[in-house]
Amino acid sequence: MNETQWFTEEVPGAESAFSLKYKKKLHEEQSEFQHIEIYETEGFGNLMVIDGCTMVSTRDNFFYHEMMSHPVLFTHPDPKRVWIIGGGDCGTLKEVLKHRSVEQAVQIDIDERVTRLAEIYFPELCESNNDPRAELKFIDGIKWVKDAAPNSVDIIIVDSTDPIGPAEGLFNEAFYHDCFACLSEHGMLVQQSESALYHMKLIGEMRHAMSSAGFAHLQTLFFPQCIYPSGWWSATIAGKTSLNQFRELDSADKRFDTTYYNVDIHRAALAQPEFFKRAIA
Ligand code: SAM
Repeated sequence: MNETQWFTEEVPGAESAFSLKYKKKLHEEQSEFQHIEIYETEGFGNLMVIDGCTMVSTRDNFFYHEMMSHPVLFTHPDPKRVWIIGGGDCGTLKEVLKHRSVEQAVQIDIDERVTRLAEIYFPELCESNNDPRAELKFIDGIKWVKDAAPNSVDIIIVDSTDPIGPAEGLFNEAFYHDCFACLSEHGMLVQQSESALYHMKLIGEMRHAMSSAGFAHLQTLFFPQCIYPSGWWSATIAGKTSLNQFRELDSADKRFDTTYYNVDIHRAALAQPEFFKRAIA
């Protein structure tokens, strides 16, 4: 008889953990940059784990990928050129390409192995990779942004791993400064900003670094993500110009399917909890 097997991610500092029961480990490798594992779980489909941290599951990735893309794309007045830094599982790319205004979407992940494994174990996330507007680059996103010319992009989506290892340099003022320099007039950056319950210090530092880099307007959105620490995640948008309004009519009239995002979810995600308002005051 098979013993029950559990994958567990412990959260140091929060003294908590999240576990998923799995049938088998489908793959494990040490890439040039990180340790990658793929599990076939009992209840969440396939699960990708990088350096011991849950990244993507078949069952619940839609929360994250939709909320990393649609709110910022419906906030920018006319998003045509989008870069995704990280995002190697291609789920964010797929959501971005649902917007017909987008003419070019470039995914820049440091680790080609993440994408090659996503193609095998998460083919549904990779189904837009051959869209003629999509480009996949496999280099360091920090260097990509540093080398970019001014006014080369409208939206930068930072869909990265946690701020350790290769992603550490994606969470500091120097990187945000380089992003500011290559964004167009109404340019916006959105970055996954971890859990407000567990990582408020990181969110505060990130927002401070974004402001110091020149972004005058900030907005943190909240959404559920049960496989990530605390089950409650956030994304922070940094804008060169006002973020006070999003294109509500376009959002309400979106011409594509989503599983979580809609205009009411967008409005609700902007509501700021009391402890969060106090922490950023
Ligand atoms: N949704 C996930 C989360 O919040 O846990 C992120 C998933 S995505 C697979 C993260 C990607 O960021 C990985 O594929 C990793 O290779 C990539 N990454 C980390 N550091 C990077 C860097 N400096 N430049 C480009 N990509 C990077």
